[in-house]
Amino acid sequence: MSGPGYEPRPAASESGGAASEYAPAASEPAPRQLVVLSGKGGTGKTSVVAAFAALATAKVLADCDVDAADLHLVLDPALRHREAFMSGKEARIVPDRCSACGDCADHCRFDAIRLTVDGHGRSVYAVDPIACEGCGFCTRVCTSGAVEMLDAERGEWFISDTRHGPLVHARLNIGGENSGKLVTLVRERAASLARETGAGLILVDGPPGIGCPVIASVTGADLVLAVTEPTVSGAHDLERAAELVQGFGLTLAVCINKADLNPDMAERIREVCAARGLPVVGELSYDTAVVKAQVEGKSIVEHGGSPVADQIRDMWKILKHRLERPKE
Ligand code: SF4
Ligand code: SF4
Repeated sequence: MSGPGYEPRPAASESGGAASEYAPAASEPAPRQLVVLSGKGGTGKTSVVAAFAALATAKVLADCDVDAADLHLVLDPALRHREAFMSGKEARIVPDRCSACGDCADHCRFDAIRLTVDGHGRSVYAVDPIACEGCGFCTRVCTSGAVEMLDAERGEWFISDTRHGPLVHARLNIGGENSGKLVTLVRERAASLARETGAGLILVDGPPGIGCPVIASVTGADLVLAVTEPTVSGAHDLERAAELVQGFGLTLAVCINKADLNPDMAERIREVCAARGLPVVGELSYDTAVVKAQVEGKSIVEHGGSPVADQIRDMWKILKHRLERPKE
């Protein structure tokens, strides 16, 4: 969803503005949170989340893959609310005050200030907001007081309605940073929405990898599911994810997607799981029905009968049972 190409379907009550009516509420009991991760994109994580979204009841969905969100492709969200995601500062040159001396451009170590031509054909200095790091040094260099530091808009977040319940999702601008902060915001708003609606579960589509956004997405989760594939990189990524998730004292379960494509590596992953005490809660077969369902904009369990749909249903029953256990 990062970049131009993504625009949620508008709904009649779309709103925006500075003050959020979806600020976190504090008094209600916290809903359970299941976070689904993968080491990299393309492992089938979002297909699994979309299927869980169809199977689970009374939940709020949170797409925390803010750099490359794609859950909306299956869920066809109707936009209910949108807000800017503000984070950090960026410089802006006020043309009326600028003498065009060029000192700021000479001193910006990020090469974010450039001579350009304005709408009247005049040469002016301007800040490239993508390159600007918000350090503020140019405000000290400029003796004309022509540089302002403004709150920087790094993206947007949304609440949408889907056929499987409300979805909180976001879009990080190209070059936008602080995706971990945006992930935290999406999770907070999903928790607030779950409390308002009485939903007992927040189903989180997590970002890939093991970086800051992943840490933001798993912190405080009740259960984390890693979707992996039977490949060398899949085994490696799983070990890294296990170190991270178990390092936070969280429970990690594992789903081996396309387990039948490489039985030797599937066995290797089972060995990794056994050595680390990770339960393998699902093994999914390679099935062309998954792609056909995606093309139709459906999850695999909505697409019709198929072996992989049955395997996901069985996996969901196991996860649901684990999530319903009393907290330790
Ligand atoms: S230092 Fe100030 S006056 Fe000089 S080009 Fe930059 S903004 Fe303009
Ligand atoms: S705030 Fe820092 S990075 Fe941005 S234009 Fe000024 S000197 Fe360059």
